[in-house]
Amino acid sequence: MGSFVERNARPEIFNLKPYVPGKPVEEVERELGITGAVKMASNENPLGPSPLAMAKVQEGISKINMYPDSACYYLRQDLAAFYGIDEDCFLVSNGSDEMLRLITETFVLPGDEVLYGKPSFSEYELMALIMGGHSIGVPLKDMCFDLAAIKNAITDRTKLIYICNPNNPTGSIVSRQDIEQFMKELPEHVLVVFDEAYFEYVTADSTVSGLEYLARGYKNVMVLRTFSKAYGLAGLRIGYGITTPEIAAAVNRVSEPFNVNLLAQLGAIGALSDSQHIQASRSVNIQGRDYLYREFEALGMNYVPTEANFIFVDLGRECRPVFKALMKEGVIVRTGDIFDFPTYIRVTIGKPEENEKFIRSLKKVMGV
Ligand SMILES: *Cc1c(COP(=O)(O)O)cnc(C)c1O
Repeated sequence: MGSFVERNARPEIFNLKPYVPGKPVEEVERELGITGAVKMASNENPLGPSPLAMAKVQEGISKINMYPDSACYYLRQDLAAFYGIDEDCFLVSNGSDEMLRLITETFVLPGDEVLYGKPSFSEYELMALIMGGHSIGVPLKDMCFDLAAIKNAITDRTKLIYICNPNNPTGSIVSRQDIEQFMKELPEHVLVVFDEAYFEYVTADSTVSGLEYLARGYKNVMVLRTFSKAYGLAGLRIGYGITTPEIAAAVNRVSEPFNVNLLAQLGAIGALSDSQHIQASRSVNIQGRDYLYREFEALGMNYVPTEANFIFVDLGRECRPVFKALMKEGVIVRTGDIFDFPTYIRVTIGKPEENEKFIRSLKKVMGV
């Protein structure tokens, strides 16, 4: 009985909720017959890619008849020099999304538990479910990862814990003190993955990178970084993990040989060398953040203070109609209902003119 897929597919796939991506600008413009739309939905860098990254990609164009270097040798060399960490500790992937999949494929058996804060990045749940894992979202406390509650949820079956720092969609960080306490009590059978996709934007000094625990010799820690956000290369798909050589070698076993394409490797090498572009991206972000804070305060809207390049803000009413009306004005944001916060939206901090267009449109569609 049942259809071909119902009879034959792995049962795990029926539990999966597909990822909800931000709509591309072209799609919105095409569907609504408008121009000049701005996308503030996927936390991309509004300044565009680094010129050094573009030059490197240009150089590589004539070589795309060749397979890429499966070891990402030159990029790993540069990353090793950048961080002062041995190159054997680095793993490169087709975006950090792929790394989440590879980590899960390496470690999670059916029935194993994967813990993370809720709401957070939806891929943690998706990857665990694909492998037949038990995925457990532990509610945030005051919009922050509640590491004490996550610690209490650990069992003998817990394999992976994600700490998204800063957290997507709230932009909140975990305090150094809370991480210290958590790491002190961490059982050895659990791999802790610090997802630091937005770490380049952090301005507070009250948090700590997972790198600190690798430096202290922890054998069950992995740190994820990406070129998609501050480094401005989301379209190339490239991210990396930093961990022990032992874990790196294990994860490499499940990885496809040519998972990171040739242009992505070159673009990343260029982007990593452009500290000026990162600096400029940080300052545009701080400027935009402060502008949006002021505007939200003037509108009497509560927001979560952010350490990333987006703000989670409470509209005080159902977000869906506002989201749709904003779209018609050519402003694409993310709704909070997918994170179980139906009166919130998540807006990516843009360039000054984009932030102003967003605020102008928000006031118009809300009639305030
Ligand atoms: C955007 C994002 C990523 C992954 O991005 P990639 O483009 O796959 O590198 C990972 N984690 C979080 C929390 C993100 O927001």
